[in-house]
Amino acid sequence: MRILIKNGTVVRSTGRKQADVLIQDGKIAKIAPDIEAEADRVIDAAGCFIFAGFIDTHTHFDLDLGVTVTADDFETGTKAAVVGGTTTVLDFATQDHGMTMHDALTLWHKKAEKSSCNYGFHMAVSEWNDARKVEVDDMFRAGISSFKMYMVYDAMKVTDGQIYDAQKFIGARGGVIGVHCENYDVLQARIAEEKAKGHMDPTAHPVTRPQAVEAEGVARLMRIAELSGYPAWVVHLSTADGLEEVRRARKRGVEVYAETCPQYITLDVSQYAEPDGAKYVMSPPLREARDRAAILDGMKKRDIDFVGTDHCSFTMAQKALGKDDFSKIPNGGAGVQNRAELVYTYAVKTGAITPEQMALLLSERAARLFGMFPKKGVLRVGSDADIVIFDPNDPHTISWKTNLHACDNSPYEGVEVAGRTRDVLLNGELVVENGKLIKPYCGQYVFRKPCEWYRK
Ligand SMILES: [Zn+2]
Repeated sequence: MRILIKNGTVVRSTGRKQADVLIQDGKIAKIAPDIEAEADRVIDAAGCFIFAGFIDTHTHFDLDLGVTVTADDFETGTKAAVVGGTTTVLDFATQDHGMTMHDALTLWHKKAEKSSCNYGFHMAVSEWNDARKVEVDDMFRAGISSFKMYMVYDAMKVTDGQIYDAQKFIGARGGVIGVHCENYDVLQARIAEEKAKGHMDPTAHPVTRPQAVEAEGVARLMRIAELSGYPAWVVHLSTADGLEEVRRARKRGVEVYAETCPQYITLDVSQYAEPDGAKYVMSPPLREARDRAAILDGMKKRDIDFVGTDHCSFTMAQKALGKDDFSKIPNGGAGVQNRAELVYTYAVKTGAITPEQMALLLSERAARLFGMFPKKGVLRVGSDADIVIFDPNDPHTISWKTNLHACDNSPYEGVEVAGRTRDVLLNGELVVENGKLIKPYCGQYVFRKPCEWYRK
């Protein structure tokens, strides 16, 4: 099978140029101007950008919170992902209390069987002890080189000492741990304060987790990494103050990888006052204009490494579990389909970053850190033909009604975006054409190598 993409603008982190792309047997065979070759299919990409397939570093599909399960499973979540240009998701396989990492991995492989984009797993661990440590080498042998720990959530929370020990143990093997950084004790105290005042609606949520709650967690993680001597990965960074802590740590020589999400450059804390404010309840919460400006500045200056969605969707009926108590609203929102068009509109169109930096943020750096480069994350001869043809001039309005995700709301409902993913090639096959998923269930497991420490 040979596919030839003609007349597009090939965008790589190093520059962009008019070139054709020839794909053969699932790989990129040639990139050059005016390729004349026999092909089974020719795709005209005139007026479009051609990117390496985008990688979403942060999704939660089919996650059981105990009280309820996310609205999207791998089947619906990866359909939404691939239509939006995401060719690989890295989802969090979650080792709950009483489970082994092996249990979690087996379970997540089963959950992911009907995937329409490629997928890998980070291993989220709720326990860190000798029984879990002996499993770590097996995880690397199974293609998992990234892990996650939480400073918050009763079901997942670990101690600072455990984060320190895990950083050393996993770091020595070439792995990285993403940490959810917030100060648990302070935010619990603030939840109690708001409830004591009778403040029970969604507008209380951001009050309980202000910028400093995140910045303190980030600062603490930075010091833990300084002490362990191994790199750190800050997940879903949302604040100017948190970014400042990352920058300060880097000046001291700490190796830090920073992830942000589209919601932190597009949405505003005032939205919790809307009638359906519960749909914006996620942690970290939506922020203020100064935070959005800082995160965009971080993207521009390359202090932010990559963008994941933290897609963790719930229906409005599920969100209503907290209708009388904001602290009982399931945390999370849907975003997996809209990441590229939001980043394009809010970061590229506004002039904050270039299309080349978009390639870096949505694909290349994630592929490098998470051990997929150069198979993924770059348009290069020999790389996997995961390719996005992105039309920068296709304005439209985001709505859950047209999104493929399985819940009846979107935090981006009504948001106008300037461009969209037109076609997607996955493993060398055309799976999305003119914005429509024409070939579902072609996703494959991505076996990952140890991390590439590109910031060293
Ligand atoms: Zn998350």
